[in-house]
Amino acid sequence: MLISADEAVARLDRGDLVALPTETVYGLAGLALSPETVKKIFALKGRSSTNPLIIHLADLKSAEKLAVFNNLARQVCKVFWPGPLTIVLTKKTCVPNEITGGGNTVAIRSPLHPLFREILKTLGKPLAAPSANPSNRTSPTQASHIKELFGSDCPPTVDGGNCKFGLESTVLDLSAGKPRILRYGPITPEEIENVLSIPVQTPLPERLTNNQPSKSPGSEKLHYAPRTPFFLHQTIEEIRLNRPSSEDLLLLPQKSDLPKDMDWLSSRTLYFSFHGKPEEIAFNLYKTLIQADKRNAQRLLALLPNTNTELCLAIRDRMTRACNRNGSIAKN
Ligand code: AMP
Ligand code: MG
Repeated sequence: MLISADEAVARLDRGDLVALPTETVYGLAGLALSPETVKKIFALKGRSSTNPLIIHLADLKSAEKLAVFNNLARQVCKVFWPGPLTIVLTKKTCVPNEITGGGNTVAIRSPLHPLFREILKTLGKPLAAPSANPSNRTSPTQASHIKELFGSDCPPTVDGGNCKFGLESTVLDLSAGKPRILRYGPITPEEIENVLSIPVQTPLPERLTNNQPSKSPGSEKLHYAPRTPFFLHQTIEEIRLNRPSSEDLLLLPQKSDLPKDMDWLSSRTLYFSFHGKPEEIAFNLYKTLIQADKRNAQRLLALLPNTNTELCLAIRDRMTRACNRNGSIAKN
């Protein structure tokens, strides 16, 4: 059911859940400071109660009521908020343990989407809003995806069109002195380093500045997964070795990636972008995976994008974790 922003505010205020658009992906929103509502979010998503939720706020002033801010946090928030950057800080006592998975840190962000902001301001209360999908499935980037993912359990939804970025927020841990990326996203480590003027640690394996794998709960191995067996490849040559058939579907970063001799597979090919621009690939990534899942293919054979940009780290990270076949990522 599609609802208006006013209807969403009324439902949220009574402790109900609604799906809302953000600039990253659609969120399953509910009152962040109500343990009962937070439990409803975990139940509907089928999410482990130890995997904490992000709290969404209108601005820095409301954020300072929930978390212990330091100078680094204030610096990044001034530049990147409102926007797709989540920061992790020590929580204040008013934040219920249910939302932090029992831990003493809290993840917060101020979203950019005008409808989400309007709802936050009218409601006047912070909202928890993990991606509006059953746990581990592909995240929704348009309102119709939520119905497709939840079926008869679909929450009432505010339609805000396509999500601008199409990838979940960058998660930056600032709770322990040294800044550390827990999840790659639309704001890149380089952009954050430019603001803070100190090095930012990043997760393995892509940027080898840190020998500890991230402990962030969103870094579990399988995530964002389609239902169809999904295989990843570094090169077209590796796709050839997997002997694609007309029962399979190819997923390629851009139009020019389909070689002439594989032209017979053109009706069995979906592209993440036209020219391979990382922003376009990110925007289309989940949409294409959800579309591919509806084609009843035997296998999805995907080629990893290979451009040398930090946004590509986020794209490769999501594709790698969407890969639901053990050992199916072809080696370098
Ligand atoms: P999602 O709500 O699905 O976008 O995922 C939320 C992500 O935020 C999780 O996967 C974690 O990476 C991160 N997160 C939330 N709270 C914390 C926290 N207290 N400490 C570390 N990471 C967190
Ligand atoms: Mg999610």
